[in-house]
Amino acid sequence: MDITTVRSYRVARTRADLKLSPGETLIAGGTWLMSEPQPAVTGFVDLTGMGWPDLEETEEGLRIAATCPIATLVAWAADAPPEWPAASLVPDAANALLASFKIWNTATVGGNICRAFAAAAMVSLCVALDAEAEIWRAGEDVRMPVSELITGNGMTALAVDDVLRAVTLPAAALRSRALLRKIALAELGRSGAVTTGRVDETGAAVFTVTAATLTPTVLRFPRLPSADELADAVGSADGYYTDPLGAADWRRAVSGVLAERIRTQLS
Ligand SMILES: Cc1cc2nc3c(=O)[nH]c(=O)nc-3n(C[C@H](O)[C@H](O)[C@H](O)COP(=O)(O)OP(=O)(O)OC[C@H]3O[C@@H](n4cnc5c(N)ncnc54)[C@H](O)[C@@H]3O)c2cc1C
Repeated sequence: MDITTVRSYRVARTRADLKLSPGETLIAGGTWLMSEPQPAVTGFVDLTGMGWPDLEETEEGLRIAATCPIATLVAWAADAPPEWPAASLVPDAANALLASFKIWNTATVGGNICRAFAAAAMVSLCVALDAEAEIWRAGEDVRMPVSELITGNGMTALAVDDVLRAVTLPAAALRSRALLRKIALAELGRSGAVTTGRVDETGAAVFTVTAATLTPTVLRFPRLPSADELADAVGSADGYYTDPLGAADWRRAVSGVLAERIRTQLS
């Protein structure tokens, strides 16, 4: 799409370049920004010139630059360290994205998180594995769980000049056994519900619901819950919503079904 309001384009190479002038907005892969009119935007500031390494394996876990293309993360997962079996969630999450390979190759992990659609598959991945976001903020940089960064369907806790620098998937969560299941009303439709479950080395279990609820739902248990415990927790979660991709009661019901399938497989 031609974004006819945009008159300037500059590539950011330093942190100082990320200071936005009135009308400017950050662009990463541009797959959302270029897909619909942006009447308030008069300039793009391209983050991909920052030269951040896409992926860094550290003792803390996997640090993923906000500018890392989703396709690069998927390629990494195919050859991930064997002690990180939960890397298998990466292609499952990427496949939950309604997108052609062209979008996969261009869309970035950070762009998906910052756009913050309820059906944002990189949010599903990050929330499933307790990822932490690094946010560049004037004055003081901030770290917060990705589950708290998302404040609504299309809304985040980012302030106007904030930049998402990276997200880190913690090593402990990557060592867990983890599964992701999704459902959409149409075979190739945007996700109506994405449910994940994982069992950590400590035996603790974490289940999440995204796409079906307006903000990520994270349910923690000291051990794998019983079927009834899990059904109660998923069924009584807040934020199930209705839109053309599914009714709230359907989302609540299918989230419970997917969670129970995951629980059964994990046990
Ligand atoms: C055919 C099609 C299908 C799609 N399907 C889905 C889907 O199923 N689920 C879904 O969630 N989305 C979907 N999208 C929307 C979009 O393509 C994805 O969310 C994509 O991952 C966005 O990444 P991007 O790098 O292209 O972001 P961009 O378009 O570059 O940016 C998206 C937004 O995030 C901001 N931003 C980007 N990076 C940062 C950063 N590091 N810090 C602060 N702000 C930042 C930008 O200013 C902009 O507001 C789809 C789009 C298309 C065209």
